[in-house]
Amino acid sequence: MIIAVDGPTASGKGTVAAGLAALYGLKRLDTGALYRAVGLAVLDAGGDPGDEAAAVAAARALDLAAIDERRIRSSVVGLAASKVAAMSAVRAVLRETQRAFAADPAGAVLDGRDIATVICPDADVKLYVTAALPVRTQRRLNELRARGEQIGFDELQAQIAERDRRDMERADSPLRQAPDAHLLDTTDLSIEASVEAARRIVEAALSR
Ligand code: C5P
Repeated sequence: MIIAVDGPTASGKGTVAAGLAALYGLKRLDTGALYRAVGLAVLDAGGDPGDEAAAVAAARALDLAAIDERRIRSSVVGLAASKVAAMSAVRAVLRETQRAFAADPAGAVLDGRDIATVICPDADVKLYVTAALPVRTQRRLNELRARGEQIGFDELQAQIAERDRRDMERADSPLRQAPDAHLLDTTDLSIEASVEAARRIVEAALSR
């Protein structure tokens, strides 16, 4: 079984994807981590995330097992990720990485921006997870503060809005709800309630 989960930053899609993977015993790929790792690799090499040749080289050299989970989560790396993600040549390299992961007959849960529309258009279940911008900002603020990053609510909200815009307006694989994806709005839902709502959507889809 392939479950595709898409949505904007801090919508709860990662939580939902991790919860579903645990429930159904499936492996999970957080595809945003790939773009973040590419952005980080370019920054670490002293490069500019807007430099396409550097970003493509970093995408080709990417080793999934060597991604530094802690370092890729900073807001600086998030912005670099959204820049490299706007490059078709980078997306083409990472598309193959993601499809290879999804090709495992054991099934998988993948979460990102274009899983249902581009990476796994034949997924068994598709979810589009969203939440109101101020709620997403507060969630990301809590995560960043827990990491010791100092940033104000308004500045972060503007950054997230900029990333949303870049993700939704890019020509290649923009963020959008697939016509056959189920909408899950987590604005007023706890983590547990979000996973439970997602589980019900999956069960309903599988019983059809
Ligand atoms: O989900 P996360 O915020 O970690 O993703 C980081 C960036 O990677 C996003 O802003 C987006 O630009 C990009 N991304 C993408 N396609 C995906 C996953 C992430 O373009 N499937």
